[in-house]
This record gives sequence, C-alpha cells and structure tokens, in this order.
Amino acid sequence: MEKIIDVKKLSEIKKENLKQEIKMLSKKNVIPKLAVIIASFDESSKIYVRNKKRLCDSLGILQEEYYFSNTVTTDDILDTIDKLNKDDSVHGILVQLPLYKHLDKHKILESIDVRKDVDGFKEINTGRLLLKSKDMIIPCTAKGIMSILEFIKADISGKHAVIVGRSQIVGKPVSYMLLNNDATVTICHSKTKNLGHYTKEADILVVVAGVCNLIKKDMVKKGSIVIDVGINKVDGKIYGDVNLHEVIDDVEYITKVPGGVGVMTVISLIENLIELVKRSNNIE
Ligand code: NAP
Repeated sequence: MEKIIDVKKLSEIKKENLKQEIKMLSKKNVIPKLAVIIASFDESSKIYVRNKKRLCDSLGILQEEYYFSNTVTTDDILDTIDKLNKDDSVHGILVQLPLYKHLDKHKILESIDVRKDVDGFKEINTGRLLLKSKDMIIPCTAKGIMSILEFIKADISGKHAVIVGRSQIVGKPVSYMLLNNDATVTICHSKTKNLGHYTKEADILVVVAGVCNLIKKDMVKKGSIVIDVGINKVDGKIYGDVNLHEVIDDVEYITKVPGGVGVMTVISLIENLIELVKRSNNIE
C-alpha cells in the first residue's frame, strides 16, 4: 500500500468538480472573481499569489491583484477593501499574509465584508467554526487537511488527534474541525513539555509549527496518519516539519512536502470562493 497520500490525484478530482460548478455558474452569467491584496516584502507570498492566479486562470475565475508598497497605510488598504466590499462583481477578498509590520492586520481582516471573507479569518467566521454553524467558511488549509483525511477515508470519530501548532490561521481551525468530527483533540505548542510524549499518542498527527525536522524517528505512533503542514526553506529547498524518511515505516499514511497540504490549500480557497458566489446569488 502506498503510504504517501496521492494529493495530486485528490486535487485533480476536486478541480474537475470545480470546473462543473463554474460551468453551471457561467450558464447563469456569473463569473467568480477573487480580489487579492498584497502588502508585504515576503517573497513566498508572491509565489502563493502566482499559484492562485494559475489555478484561477485554468478554471476560468477572475483574479484581481492589488499590490502596495511599504509606504501604504492601514487606511489606504481599508479604502481599497471598502471599494471591493461594495463591488458586486467581486465575490471573495483575500489579504495575503504576512502584511508589512506597521499595518493593523486585525483591523484590515475585520474590514472585509463577511459575505466575501474567502479565507474565513474574520472573528465571526471563527465563531461559526467553533459553534459548527452551517454558515461557516473554513480557513483554507484546515479545509484542505479535512479533504485529505476524507480522501483516505480516515476514521476520525473517537480517534486521538494531536495538533502541533496553535496559530489562528491553521492550528486552531484544524483543531476545531477535528473536534467537530468527534476526535479527542490535544493541541501542542512551543511551551509544551516533552512534545514526543503527545505525538506518540496520536492516531492522527497534524504538524503545523514551521520547524524543520521537528518530528523525528520514534515520535509517531505505529499505524498513525501524519499530516505535515510545515513549509521550511533550507538552502533553497523546501522541507516540511516531519522527517518523512525517519517515520515512514511506522505510519499508515503521510503527506509529503512539497506536494501535500499546500496543493489542497489553494483548491480549498477556490472551493470557498465558489461557496460565496453561490450564497451571494442564492444558488443551492
Ligand atoms: P505560526 O503562526 O508561527 O505558528 C506556529 C505554531 O507552532 C505556534 O503555535 C507555535 O507555538 C508552534 N511551535 C513553534 N515551535 C514549536 C516547537 N518547537 N514545538 C511545538 N510547537 C511549536 O505559523 P503558521 O502560520 O501556523 O504556519 C506554520 C507552518 O505551516 C509554517 O511553516 C508555514 O509556512 C506552514 N503553512 C503551510 C500552509 C500550507 O498550505 N501548506 C499554510 C499555512 C502555513 P506558540 O503558539 O507557543 O508560539
């Protein structure tokens, strides 16, 4: 049995479904449009934006990019978001993180109209996720991870899920999703003592710390599912947080980096966009 999850195959299936949905929307004269705000020095952000654009182009989705130099103010960005909020042709607004340090990230994210919060980062969407409301928009990486678990038909209910990392954008949302699916959830972070004690107990281990080689030999349970979310650049090469070669003999399934969760994050973004398009046009 292949232990490395074939995320490419999953992404092809998802893309095909999206194509059908977009075809259905175009018959109703609706063309999905995503607006992306980029106010950052971060080089990786530019790569992510390019990847999103490539996927949007291939699916017939419009993507508008708004680049800002480091002299931009929070108010300038709020003005742009206000215009995009009022523009009926725009269905989703994405603020590429990280932002320049001087900008008020919270104020900027909260200014997005909830009907266009394609990343699901607004406090109201976090609340909906916690409350398992049907209106929730699940943050893209967490949604992608759940799709991967569904793809391998992982049994989540009653299983012990351990998440390493508690960020607002991935660690916490994926923890809530697993809890909503009846896993018993443990969340670890940088202050956790004896990390291996917890990771070794995990039936499902999600690692999202951003620390290369954090999970090594003897830190995973036999027969477990390991989802590696980390993206670490070392000497120009990309690595995850898990040492795949050291743990592969013990796991049942594992994702690789690159070519794993990152692939699904972009697909999930487009799924969220289509969901928002359908909601704004009252399409089931
Ligand atoms: P973040 O905001 O920096 O959060 C990292 C989390 O990991 C924090 O909760 C931190 O604990 C915890 N942590 C750090 N060092 C640790 C250690 N030695 N042991 C245990 N926990 C530790 O980062 P993020 O935005 O969640 O991203 C994390 C990683 O995922 C990065 O490599 C990022 O590039 C990657 N990522 C990938 C995707 C994708 O699509 N594949 C999407 C988003 C992010 P504290 O809370 O105590 O500081």
